[in-house]
Amino acid sequence: EPLEVVSDQELRLQRQQYLGKGMSLQYKEPIRMVRGAGVFMLDQFGRKYLDTVNNVAHVGHEHPDVVRAGQAQMALLNTNSRYLHKNITAYAEALLATLPPELSVLHFVNSGSEANELALRMVKTATGHKDIIASEVGYHGNTNACAEISSYKFDGKGGSGAPEHTHIFPIPDAFRGKYRGADSGTAYAEEVKQIIGKLEKEGRRPAAFIIEPIISCGGQVELPEGFLKQAYGHVRQAGGLCISDEVQVGLGRMGKTFWGFQLHDVVPDIVTMGKPLGNGHPLAVVACTREVAEAFANGMEFFNTFGGNPVSCAIGAEVLRIVKDEGLQQNALQVGEYLKTELKKLAANHPVIGDVRGQGLFLGIELVTTDLQPLPEQATYLVNRMKEHGILMSIDGPDHNVLKIKPPLVFSKENADELLFYLGKILKEDFMLV
Ligand code: PMP
Repeated sequence: EPLEVVSDQELRLQRQQYLGKGMSLQYKEPIRMVRGAGVFMLDQFGRKYLDTVNNVAHVGHEHPDVVRAGQAQMALLNTNSRYLHKNITAYAEALLATLPPELSVLHFVNSGSEANELALRMVKTATGHKDIIASEVGYHGNTNACAEISSYKFDGKGGSGAPEHTHIFPIPDAFRGKYRGADSGTAYAEEVKQIIGKLEKEGRRPAAFIIEPIISCGGQVELPEGFLKQAYGHVRQAGGLCISDEVQVGLGRMGKTFWGFQLHDVVPDIVTMGKPLGNGHPLAVVACTREVAEAFANGMEFFNTFGGNPVSCAIGAEVLRIVKDEGLQQNALQVGEYLKTELKKLAANHPVIGDVRGQGLFLGIELVTTDLQPLPEQATYLVNRMKEHGILMSIDGPDHNVLKIKPPLVFSKENADELLFYLGKILKEDFMLV
């Protein structure tokens, strides 16, 4: 791409002119990316960045086998799912094999938001109820119904609070939340129970309870032990269904388990999946029990123009094959545990790191003062300095003080060492000494 055709400055002006203001760019000096390869992204000068951010490029940026699978099927046929085609059933069979037998029916869609949107329609149809219980600072997507259950949005900038049918419980954050410590699971589950009790007094029942197995936008918050099992128990006792949003955490990233809910010894009624399934190609899935699927199929047809098309399914099947054949769940476990252990060592020497948490290659580093006040400016400083050293990182959490690590699963021990080296270096800089 010849540089003189359009400068970075022109691209920024064009964005301002053509695109919505809500669409943000990362970094004060945004990077112009032109290529991806494995765990790296390359800018227009050929500068290589180690990517600890993109959990969509699950098996590595532009994995050649995924590219080939997509190209080959694109050259043959792409159409909707109203014709018999082996790709959709072959992919369905392979994906279902990763799930417990209770989750046995799939619907194909194109984004995580669409998956959660469909899950919400399913629970409303199946239960006849409308009330949804969701976590504080949870995020489940950009559609109307998803935004209405996403406290991250309606309790954040530009938001206007929870709608009538959304019921928010305190984020089960054992580090800085309402209840603290490893044994806080029961107290948080009790909050869910209280919401159900309030609803019952008004003659209402929950349609569903939705949560991520590790709350991502909330700042990589791991659910305290026992919380999910007890919360599911309370919700089910009231006739509600349980949705696990695996859009960020699923497909082997947790290391110990293939799906996030499996860390908690529960089986949801519905699992929503997105981001990593297509390695960047828009592909998302709703898995549910036969019971929910039967209740949803009440005579109304479900059609999705692009969902389950042969190209998407060829890509999805290839991604799944690579996760298995390249042992990426195992890699997430090994490299993730190594990285977490080393990060904890860094934390011991740098008081600015208050907590290191997460599973597999889905980790969080929370920056706080000694009395647990959030340090968003330090987080921003660190991410910008890391960029100068060719490492991409991201920040999240309601206080913008949690560094998120969620790289492509091909992230190696050497990549981890590079990340640790520069983190260690920057943590010694004056601005980080609080
Ligand atoms: N659920 C979770 C947990 C997410 O993180 C996201 C996206 N960040 C979504 C749903 C929505 O997915 P999409 O952007 O693909 O619509």
